[in-house]
Amino acid sequence: MLTLSQVNKRYPTGDHALVGIDLTLPPGQVMALIGPSGAGKSTLIRCVNRLVEPTSGSIRLEDTELTRLSGGNLRRARRSMGMIFQEYALVERLTVMENVLSGRLGYVGFWRSFLRRYAQADITEAFRLLERVGLSHAIDKRADALSGGQRQRVGIARALIQQPNVLLVDEPTASLDPKTSRLIMRLIRELCNERKLAAIINIHDVALAQQFADRIVGLRAGKIVFDGTPQELDAQA
Ligand code: ADP
Ligand code: ADP
Repeated sequence: MLTLSQVNKRYPTGDHALVGIDLTLPPGQVMALIGPSGAGKSTLIRCVNRLVEPTSGSIRLEDTELTRLSGGNLRRARRSMGMIFQEYALVERLTVMENVLSGRLGYVGFWRSFLRRYAQADITEAFRLLERVGLSHAIDKRADALSGGQRQRVGIARALIQQPNVLLVDEPTASLDPKTSRLIMRLIRELCNERKLAAIINIHDVALAQQFADRIVGLRAGKIVFDGTPQELDAQA
């Protein structure tokens, strides 16, 4: 369970990106966060994984108050959150397999020397995940040789190898064509079901949000302006 209480974020520039956000994500729920550009969607996700420091408020994951963590505790908490990004954030000159393993072992320079002898279990799991996301034929390809959809599949496998409790997904389809976008959203949805994972997915495509999420939360100017099912969103529109 992820719970945000009265979360505020004001950037040094003065932008009040989040205003008194109260939000609870129950186990296994797939939530789509929608809203116009500048509404605060990325800021919300980044406050949860602490890429951005909230100005005030509380963010709890299970029994852990995320806003107070630092050092090793913060790193451990981040490992329990799988991140999937719009621009994939792959290491271009590494292979598909290496990119997935980097999700497991974090720091790339560290595992490159490390994995040859020690990480057989991780390699096995990476194979299994790459098979699941449809990339078992491409494990030795370099990231920079992949299509956008393939890159996002690597990003998904890399997030899942951490065995996260929650997925934080920031505009996963923004760089993809409509057909690939649907395939990627379907894959994320199926994996959440299979692994009983909760997810927050920032997505500005409302139709995709409605098709694949359990719950839609609408943000505007840093405030929640809608919270309901995809059907309720239709009824309101
Ligand atoms: P999105 O709308 O998908 O969040 P943006 O293009 O608005 O993406 O932002 C891209 C990057 O620029 C992000 O890292 C964001 O934090 C940063 N950014 C957005 N707005 C501002 C701003 N007013 N001042 C400084 N950085 C900003
Ligand atoms: P969204 O993801 O919904 O497009 P963002 O969270 O990126 O919205 O942005 C919310 C507001 O915060 C916007 O006004 C944006 O300009 C501002 N903002 C985002 N990132 C930064 C940043 N790094 N520095 C200053 N302002 C930012």
